[in-house]
Amino acid sequence: MSEPADELLRRWADISALRAAAAVLAWDQETHMPPKGQPGRGRALAVLAGVTHDRLCDPALLEALDGAAAIAEPGGELAAQVREARRAVIRATAVPADLARALAEHQSRALASWQTARAANDFASFAADLKRMVDLTIEQADAFVAAGVADRRYDALLDGYEPGAREATLAPLLHALRDELVPLVRAVAGSGRTIDESACRGSFPEPAQRGFAVEVATAMGYDFDAGRLDASAHPFTTGFNPNDVRITWRWQDDDFRPGLFGVMHETGHALYEQGLPVEWHGTPIGGAASLGVHESQSRLWENQVGRSRAFWQWALPRFREHFPGHFVQNGGNAAALDELWPALHTVRPSLIRVEADETTYNLHIVVRFELERQLFSGELTVGDLPDAWADTYEQLLGVRPSDVATGVLQDIHWSMGAFCYFPTYTLGNLLAAQLFEAAEHELGDLDALLAAGELQVLLDWLRTNVHRNASRYTVDELVVRATGTPLAADAFLRYLRANVEAAYGITA
Ligand code: ZN
Repeated sequence: MSEPADELLRRWADISALRAAAAVLAWDQETHMPPKGQPGRGRALAVLAGVTHDRLCDPALLEALDGAAAIAEPGGELAAQVREARRAVIRATAVPADLARALAEHQSRALASWQTARAANDFASFAADLKRMVDLTIEQADAFVAAGVADRRYDALLDGYEPGAREATLAPLLHALRDELVPLVRAVAGSGRTIDESACRGSFPEPAQRGFAVEVATAMGYDFDAGRLDASAHPFTTGFNPNDVRITWRWQDDDFRPGLFGVMHETGHALYEQGLPVEWHGTPIGGAASLGVHESQSRLWENQVGRSRAFWQWALPRFREHFPGHFVQNGGNAAALDELWPALHTVRPSLIRVEADETTYNLHIVVRFELERQLFSGELTVGDLPDAWADTYEQLLGVRPSDVATGVLQDIHWSMGAFCYFPTYTLGNLLAAQLFEAAEHELGDLDALLAAGELQVLLDWLRTNVHRNASRYTVDELVVRATGTPLAADAFLRYLRANVEAAYGITA
């Protein structure tokens, strides 16, 4: 490679190493750090973030970048390295230092204020801090727009999580979902049918849950010699390099679903990180393509695989070994499966996003999408949010929060300044279904493979079509290369409808 390209990659390797160091500190903070370690850790993370930011803004990096850009062949690997590096450099340099500092300082203040407000169920005490967070974020978005990141505020913010995504392409996807899901959820409610969930409830001791979850994660292909499983308040995945990718979980003693599906979800994320090409590690294209693509990997394993009858044909006998006291009334595995499977597809409109089922989940996202775009276009003020939130929930989900703790204050995102982030969850759900259909199309009878526990075939397909590409292509290119068509809501809606109709015995 040429001199400027070498220089670009050499500098990027340092930036990547700094980020990995920060990620290790953040992982430790969530898993093993004693509570009194917090202030010292916060300081260490802030210094690392500052050093990383300085490296990104270093004129010598920009010079190497321009030099590499001048010699990169269009469509080639170096052009992709330049594209990804430039994205990060533009975002880092666009925001003036005093604004970046104001944002960082206000984040910790607003986070604390949100925690207090949510515990006290009091929006008014958080309103001024949220207003300032919105104002600072608008300033930041305007700085991104001025730097050419995107033409509009919403898009400039969204682009930070989902490169290339725009409100104008997101809206038709989310509206297609809304227009199909609202009647589907009403049809379930109108049917008067309910699903008996006792197959998922009982007593599930933590060691047995862990043992079963580890067996499933191993079958999925998670390499425990390049990863580990720890407990944390909120499950997450973090990768420092493809050979050190860690997951966390939490569990519930009286219902096995949150623990198991949480682990399958995080393992899906981790398989992506473990499957990134080692030879690109530390380069601009070495990471995941976007948050939406990341979420597609977790959702595919959690839902398309983890909630399928075929997977449970393999998993149920193993489940019964770990929980010998469960299903004792029910002799054969086939009968137990008939009892269990519908309980994996319940539909219940609720107020809390993180507890939502897979059918209503995306309606929670549509609510946030609508409110955020009105907030950033100036149609809505912070003071309007609690009522607008409740009204939109009532319209879309048919439930209305009676307080702000279960309404507008439930998510941490806005207090951290993470606006326009929520749609990445839905993009992940849509892409998961589209990828799974494409894999089925290519691999033939996926059900037979899942039922035999041969999950490696599906993993290999994802490795080839998603993981090994890292950020070599734009997200739009990646989706078309892997599935043959641009991202749409169709596959996801087909998947949901088939499950809901079968679980509830209705035709919606
Ligand atoms: Zn996830």
